[in-house]
Amino acid sequence: MNNYDVVIIGAGAAGLFCAGVAGQRGLKVLLLDHSEKVAEKIRISGGGRCNFTNRDAAPANFLGDNPHFCRSALSRYTPRDFIELLQKHGVLFHEKHKGQLFCDRSAEDVINVLLAECAAGGVIRWQPCQVKNIVKIDASPEDSRAQSYRIESDRGLIETPQLVIATGGLSIPKIGATDFGYRIARQFGLRLVEPRAALVPLTFDGDDWAPFAQLAGLALPVRVETGAANASPKQRKKAATFHEDLLFTHRGLSGPAILQISSFWREGQPIRVDLAPGTDLPQQLLRAKSGSKKLIANELASLVPSRLADAWVQADPVLQKPICDATDKALLTLAERLADWQLVPNGSEGYKKAEVTVGGVDTRDLSSQTMESKQPGLYFIGEVVDVTGWLGGYNFQWAWASAFACAQALNANLTVLEG
Ligand SMILES: Cc1cc2nc3c(=O)[nH]c(=O)nc-3n(C[C@H](O)[C@H](O)[C@H](O)COP(=O)(O)OP(=O)(O)OC[C@H]3O[C@@H](n4cnc5c(N)ncnc54)[C@H](O)[C@@H]3O)c2cc1C
Repeated sequence: MNNYDVVIIGAGAAGLFCAGVAGQRGLKVLLLDHSEKVAEKIRISGGGRCNFTNRDAAPANFLGDNPHFCRSALSRYTPRDFIELLQKHGVLFHEKHKGQLFCDRSAEDVINVLLAECAAGGVIRWQPCQVKNIVKIDASPEDSRAQSYRIESDRGLIETPQLVIATGGLSIPKIGATDFGYRIARQFGLRLVEPRAALVPLTFDGDDWAPFAQLAGLALPVRVETGAANASPKQRKKAATFHEDLLFTHRGLSGPAILQISSFWREGQPIRVDLAPGTDLPQQLLRAKSGSKKLIANELASLVPSRLADAWVQADPVLQKPICDATDKALLTLAERLADWQLVPNGSEGYKKAEVTVGGVDTRDLSSQTMESKQPGLYFIGEVVDVTGWLGGYNFQWAWASAFACAQALNANLTVLEG
């Protein structure tokens, strides 16, 4: 039987970081992963450069059933702390956009830092290692804490008083994502918030999308929000809004604006897009009408990208004429539709394209201070928890912060009771 102070399952961002911190606090740590390589998601993140944090990360940048849950951990391990860690290891990085920090060289730099921190903490790593079963062994009926977890793996039996689940969410199954964390949560009677794909491109019905499919590859800055135009003031208060770039695809919409809004979007709901934010379209079109003989499509092309102007006008016979011949009403309707394009996605590209999973282990069953669940000795950290960051380095910051909170709370030298 192998005994450890703590066993961490999942050697991704959160698991590696937690292992390193706990090891350096003097705990005997075993970190195991079913994949041959650690941290595959870090490797592919940020286009291979890993957007490892966001300088301005704050609780408002996170979603979850309890939006306050992330506060404590985020305040105790901040973006500055992770920046200092990278600086200590000589990793060079730069700010790209809205506080997003990327490695200058490669995401491998972040992985190497985490591996070096694990090595400094004497962390034992087993990969690939399949966990077949986990059972709790109660040694004393009077004391619920006098217990251990027995883990049956393809590398043998392991026993530990503290078990950390860091197996992430469901996105990108082909690089090792599984529902393991959710299954363990259920096994130990914890609640789950229904998981769904997020930070993901949205798709539309083929017929509805046909006029726009030709725009695939076109990117433009937009304002996007959730919720219908006729939403109540209360619903509007809850609506999310982002100012980012949108990208047309063959099947629908992508780009940072859409990835951001996808985390808030619910099936059946519309999204609303302002395709010319900051432009007074009604005024511009009416002014053009009074002094121009150009086609509407040509005038419009000075206000939005010309491919978009062409496709939009082609879809509506009323607009295929010189602007001076158009009625004010037709131009005002055109302006309104472009500034408030309301459309209902039929779905998303799903977990194979999603960057994260919204939902997960219900935070009502976890301590926000330690990440320990109501099942003593069982912890959940990182994306498996119902805390999801916006696009822009926030998800890694949650991985570091939740891992740190957990690692600080783990105990060294708890007696492992022989069952
Ligand atoms: C394409 C892409 C790009 C991204 N870019 C960014 C970015 O730039 N910035 C950002 O902040 N976030 C980004 N993210 C999100 C970020 O990668 C995740 O939120 C983060 O990795 C979550 O950390 P984690 O440790 O909880 O889970 P992961 O990093 O997913 O680690 C989970 C680990 O558990 C292992 N595992 C799973 N199931 C089992 C099992 N049954 N047994 C044993 N081990 C198991 C996996 O192999 C994996 O190593 C990106 C995600 C994707 C998919």
